[in-house]
Amino acid sequence: MDHIAVIGAGQAGASVVETLRKEGYDGRLTLWGEEPELPYQRPPLSKAYLLGEMARERLHLRPAAFYEENRVELHLGTRIDAIDPDARTLTHAGGTEGWDALVLATGSAPRRLPGAVGGDLDGVFAVRTLADIDALAPHIREDGHLLVVGGGYIGLEAAAVARNRGMRVTLLEAAPRLLSRVSCRDTATWFADKHRAMGVDIREAATLERLTGDGHVTGATLSDGTKLSVDAVVAGIGIVPSTTLAEAAGLTLADGIAVDAQGRTSADGIWAAGDCCSFPHRGGRVRLESVPHAIHQAETVARNLLGAAEDYVAKPWFWSDQYDVKLQIAGLNTGFDRVIVRDGSDIEGGRSHWYFAGDRLLAVDAMNDPRAYMVGKRLIEAGRSPDPDAVADRAVPIKSLM
Ligand code: ADP
Repeated sequence: MDHIAVIGAGQAGASVVETLRKEGYDGRLTLWGEEPELPYQRPPLSKAYLLGEMARERLHLRPAAFYEENRVELHLGTRIDAIDPDARTLTHAGGTEGWDALVLATGSAPRRLPGAVGGDLDGVFAVRTLADIDALAPHIREDGHLLVVGGGYIGLEAAAVARNRGMRVTLLEAAPRLLSRVSCRDTATWFADKHRAMGVDIREAATLERLTGDGHVTGATLSDGTKLSVDAVVAGIGIVPSTTLAEAAGLTLADGIAVDAQGRTSADGIWAAGDCCSFPHRGGRVRLESVPHAIHQAETVARNLLGAAEDYVAKPWFWSDQYDVKLQIAGLNTGFDRVIVRDGSDIEGGRSHWYFAGDRLLAVDAMNDPRAYMVGKRLIEAGRSPDPDAVADRAVPIKSLM
């Protein structure tokens, strides 16, 4: 193989090129990214970086020298306009290039508030890229009122940063409760209580009628007629996988680009990894928005490109930081029928929610309880399930659950 091209210079794309070199691939290696930045970590953007507690350079996954030393041709600030699976080419504003194998690591894009509700006004921000955060950060200030639209983890993290800065915050969630896509009611209630205690005005089952302002947003009208005056708006209303290139090239899609267990798309020689694609999981398909998943799937794809023929095993680990809370999530809770709450037994103030389908452990949400997370993660990785009664019993030491 003379040239492997990787489109998308996020976490998955960076992991693919790094692993290819580590595994001894010696041919031409190109990494194409639309953003003008070296590949960087996204999770701190809505946390430490937005708070101003993390320097820009520390976001970079690797310094520029790493790519030079590893002979990775970085094409940053370069948008790929088309791929041709038959001719094996990619096209950008500067021309067309051939490849022998292609990896799509195109990630996802934030859903935006439509122009019809005022989503185009100045002062309305998404939380996805470094550029988004650099634009938002100056608006997080003590004397302002921030409206957060969306009560998923992105919206909650932005709300926490703004409250930490002393800003007034109102958060709208369209669904009857927070975190409806990703968490059980217990976890949602726990976070709603935390945010309310920290002074966030959380409004569930609340929808935005429209944002108002002359150029810059100054107000919001809710569907129930409430009018708020606001200084900035954050939309944390989910992401959509970036599939434009794949779709135009005729690749099979299924909630993102469909790949097989080893990471191949429906087109010969084209692979995909990260949150742009869905993959086989427990008899169905799943698409994950998780950094550890993006890294491990990308590593598997890189090894398979070199002939390993390895099936990917999902690594659905996730975390969030809000105020003094460190949330760690192990596993995927899809299909759970009950949640066991383990309260404060192991660490003062710690708490964990254990999702079961019957007697089978699916996932654990651990709030300020790294031990519960570790135990849950190990059990899930090993495909083992603890006795739910023992989980609920704070007198049973957490380690004995293994
Ligand atoms: P993210 O990763 O951006 O947090 P999620 O999908 O986990 O994404 O959460 C987004 C939340 O935003 C969901 O709880 C969803 O119900 C909510 N939401 C989506 N659209 C709107 C809207 N127009 N107004 C208020 N809430 C919304």
